[in-house]
Amino acid sequence: MIEAILDLREWRETAASPSAIGRAWAAIQSSLVGQLPVAAEALEVRAEGGIARLWIVSTPSHEPIADDTPLLLLDVVRNPRLMYVCRDCGEYGPLRCQKCEDEEQPARLCSKCAKTILDELTAYCSRHLPLCECREGCPEKANFRCRKCRRLFGTHQQKAHPRDPETSYCANCHWVLFGRCQPCAELRKQRLGRSKCGFFRRDTGERCALPLCWEHSQQWRAWGQDNRGIPLCPEHVKALATVDLESILLSLLTTKPPISDRGRPMPLPNLFRVRKLLKTCRSRPESFRTILEAVQRLEPDIESRGRERLSRDYRYMRESYGEALADLAQKEPMFLEQIRDYYARELGSGYGSAILGAEVIERWKEKGQWRYRVDVRTSLTNRGHLIGPGGQRIKPLQEKYGIRIDFDGGQR
Ligand SMILES: [Zn+2]
Ligand SMILES: [Zn+2]
Ligand SMILES: [Zn+2]
Ligand SMILES: [Zn+2]
Ligand SMILES: [Zn+2]
Ligand SMILES: [Zn+2]
Repeated sequence: MIEAILDLREWRETAASPSAIGRAWAAIQSSLVGQLPVAAEALEVRAEGGIARLWIVSTPSHEPIADDTPLLLLDVVRNPRLMYVCRDCGEYGPLRCQKCEDEEQPARLCSKCAKTILDELTAYCSRHLPLCECREGCPEKANFRCRKCRRLFGTHQQKAHPRDPETSYCANCHWVLFGRCQPCAELRKQRLGRSKCGFFRRDTGERCALPLCWEHSQQWRAWGQDNRGIPLCPEHVKALATVDLESILLSLLTTKPPISDRGRPMPLPNLFRVRKLLKTCRSRPESFRTILEAVQRLEPDIESRGRERLSRDYRYMRESYGEALADLAQKEPMFLEQIRDYYARELGSGYGSAILGAEVIERWKEKGQWRYRVDVRTSLTNRGHLIGPGGQRIKPLQEKYGIRIDFDGGQR
């Protein structure tokens, strides 16, 4: 019996399966008849399918091969390149698109047709290469993963670490991490500006975002003195005094709230706190009504942005501010009447009519009940009588109606 090795390295069809080998064998078998086998030499067959060689390992005789010569194929040598063919160009395809494989589609790719993400081992076909995540609908293909936010981006977003060119960041993270404080730069100082101005510019539709060092970032303490507020650049600290209220409200709505002790984002400051905050920075006082009206004017602006969290926060603001104002419209005249009646009874009708107005300046909940701080305007120069020694006259009034009273803006 002749023992031989079939060499299909120059055979065009990929001899990847037993049936493919069978087809190649059938195509060359008849051409072997009549050839003389010599050990350690090859018989060659040229056929339509390419060139096949039969390497003779051992042969019992020196007879030419006949139709019925028994022949044992010890092995088949195949072109390894042909085992893995790039499904796009037909070249050697050692890589695979994982997504195609998951879809049970041909997944083999050559190194030219395969797309990769910098520093990552996964290969993609051009259809499955993820898109840049810089914004919705960016058509660019992703080619790196940002070291900080871990999202995928295309080249147009790629920024290197200032001291390590191998490490890439998206434009936003790069600038959050390495942006220089602008006011410092104007003073020819180089300082990182980790804090970014949170003022919402309606002209650009985005936050000012000027990088600021600690020294140049002032905080608008919307969530109380002890919490991080909205960082502002010097220009926008000044702007607070005169800019439209909508811009301030938008800045508030688009700033990430600080996290409370209980680990949750702090709620938006209520109508009362907002007015109090505005008092310290506006050139003229704002009423609850002007604030609510500004909130209402924002609606088309907010809804056109189509940002779910922003819309939700906005609706919460509009509803809770609206509710607070409606409550005040009812409570203020009631408190005025109650306070007048009380002093008329206690001190005589002259004192009752000396009470000119009552304005709620704060509202909070105690044991599930609303409590109010009321600023009471009087025509009196000495309000000591209204308070009484040790507060004994004002206390029953405050307790009865659940209010705290300030007279004439807190003057005694
Ligand atoms: Zn694919
Ligand atoms: Zn290819
Ligand atoms: Zn992009
Ligand atoms: Zn990033
Ligand atoms: Zn600075
Ligand atoms: Zn700014």
